[in-house]
Amino acid sequence: MPELPEVEFAVRRFRRAARGQVVRALEVLHPAQRRTLPPQAVRRVIGQRIIDVERRGKHQLIHLDDGATLLVHFRLNGDWVHGRTSDALPEHTRVLFTLAGGRRVALTDSRALCTIVRHAAGRLPDLRLGPEPEDPRLTATDLRARLAARHGPIKPVLLDQSLLAGVGNIYAGEACWHARIHPAARASGLTAPRVARLLAGLRTTLADGHRNAGRYHRGERQIPFEVYDREGEPCTRCGARIRRIEQAGRGTWFCPRCQRT
Ligand SMILES: [Zn+2]
Repeated sequence: MPELPEVEFAVRRFRRAARGQVVRALEVLHPAQRRTLPPQAVRRVIGQRIIDVERRGKHQLIHLDDGATLLVHFRLNGDWVHGRTSDALPEHTRVLFTLAGGRRVALTDSRALCTIVRHAAGRLPDLRLGPEPEDPRLTATDLRARLAARHGPIKPVLLDQSLLAGVGNIYAGEACWHARIHPAARASGLTAPRVARLLAGLRTTLADGHRNAGRYHRGERQIPFEVYDREGEPCTRCGARIRRIEQAGRGTWFCPRCQRT
């Protein structure tokens, strides 16, 4: 699943290819994407210049010169595939942008769950996102204040996009390991030093992710995670066997010895 570093990587590549370019053609090839990007919206996008592309959480915002924004979400499996109009259409192409100079960007998604929605100027909805975990203005004191009303277990709390923008299942689990915090520890009960370790852990694991994001498509397991998908394997810190539990319907991996409630 694309997490924050993969989405950031995708945004940077799309921005390099498309910023300043006019959308020559836009084709929606699957009924699921036609529901969120119907023909009347497509007609308004064609001929517009792409002013900029930015990321907020796991959302991608493509800003057009009429003030409209295309809000893109990869969901479970989406990705941009860059190529030329002379290339064969990539497998599972759902939406196809044609740019100047024969360049083409395909939104591919084997499950067709990805979404693109056009919002007219001034109509972009509130995405209800908390601060970006890597924003240097975010301090451990701020994060602790944001956690004060959250009495649930910390790892599922970290997935709430209104707490922090863009933290996904893998990185939430990894951050808890780095911080030596048990994923079931009560969020509101974490002491100041533990919250500081948690924020540092999030940043460490996201920084590792950014270094490896380009490798995501060649298999997630190539990325050296500490606990994710390592059930039964030894903890790299203390040697105990990594365990897997379910929290809020999602898998959580952790070390039962060095991560404490
Ligand atoms: Zn351990």
